[in-house]
Amino acid sequence: MPDTSPTFHEYYQRFTEQMRRLGCTAFTRLLNGAMVAHLGSNGPCLALVAGVHGDERSGPLALLEWVSSHNGSLIPPDRQVWLLPLLNDEGWDAHRREWCGLDLNRSFLPQERSPEFLWPIMDEWRARLPDMFLDLHEDLDKQDRPYLFRYPGDEHGLAEQLAAHLGAEMVDWTDFDEWEGSDEVYLRRLGCSRCVTIEATVDWSLEERIRWNLKAVQWCVGYLS
Ligand SMILES: [Zn+2]
Repeated sequence: MPDTSPTFHEYYQRFTEQMRRLGCTAFTRLLNGAMVAHLGSNGPCLALVAGVHGDERSGPLALLEWVSSHNGSLIPPDRQVWLLPLLNDEGWDAHRREWCGLDLNRSFLPQERSPEFLWPIMDEWRARLPDMFLDLHEDLDKQDRPYLFRYPGDEHGLAEQLAAHLGAEMVDWTDFDEWEGSDEVYLRRLGCSRCVTIEATVDWSLEERIRWNLKAVQWCVGYLS
């Protein structure tokens, strides 16, 4: 099936158009052209990230569908969403995992070791730590079932509840050093423990993966209350 997904530039044209239609005017523009949209001004904040790896298509497309399919308010008035729907410009357009040879999910590091366009993201997270974090990925080769990563040190049960809701398997990880430079470990080191990275399976059609990601996003917005 031919890939009809938009280019990075087209993606953000559509995204910002939809966000403005929904009344969102607070954006942070990154040096690579990606945008962070800030929704809401009160209450707990969910940070949503997708498109860290350019060849994983369903997360960004799910978030575009999420903002396009709403009329009126995307989230209830008592919560906030920090939304970065597509991070990797170069990888997205080339259908490649990396960004200029770098794995962006190992690039959330001190400034001297991370690309400049990631700095405002880390600055914003340090200035206002999200209460919860969801990162949308796809596993392109390992698993025939979707899964999410669980940190067994968490006592809040977020990963278990989300896995049950999504019918996902759980993969435990314990070593922060092994995932150093991932956005999740960056946030966990800052003190945000309600973090989940989910992995759709490419055994599913793009449409199924988009549905699954949307289900996760909607559940997390609800959990935030
Ligand atoms: Zn990924």
